[in-house]
Formats: sequence, structure tokens, C-alpha cells
Amino acid sequence: MPKAIKTLNKPKGIGNKVKLGQRQSAHQRGYNSKWQKARKAYLASNPLCVFCKAKGIIKSATVIDHIIPHKGDMRLFWDKSNWQPLCKRCHDSDKQRAEKRNK
Ligand SMILES: [Zn+2]
Repeated sequence: MPKAIKTLNKPKGIGNKVKLGQRQSAHQRGYNSKWQKARKAYLASNPLCVFCKAKGIIKSATVIDHIIPHKGDMRLFWDKSNWQPLCKRCHDSDKQRAEKRNK
């Protein structure tokens, strides 16, 4: 039955995806309740997106961006001098912006 072989391949791929997603959970990368608390406090005292502010736009920040990617380094992760408040839109387009900075 060639059809049976075809259907066997599909769940294998999906299974791998699910496993990866569980491993890379935000909680395990340090984004736990301690982070949520620190984030809230930081955004309360730094409420505006710095990228928007630089463009003269007043927009409230909802995300803390790590200026230097922490890559799991807890010292960088918790170093507030490495934090900047961003709105979600700026945070998500940050990488594209960096490449087109001199446009
Ligand atoms: Zn922004």
C-alpha cells in the first residue's frame, strides 16, 4: 500500500516542530515571572518607545529590547543599561531597520 507510506511521513514532521517549540519556551530562556515583574516596573518608568521618540513620535513602549543580544547570558539579560523600551512594531522591525539604517 503506497498510500500508507505517504501518510506516515506527515506526522513525523509535525511532531518535530512541536518538540522544538516546547524546548524554546520563553519561560526557559529567562522570561519568567521575575522578568514580567521587572519588565512592568521598567516600562512604568520608561513608558515611551525610544525609536519612535527619535523620530519625534510619542508612542508607548510595550517591549523591552536588549540592545546587545543576551543569547542566554543572564548578566546581559538583567543588565538594565542594556535595556531599551520599544513599541512592538519597532521591536519586530528592528533587525530590518538595522540593515537599512543608511537609507
Ligand atoms: Zn516604536
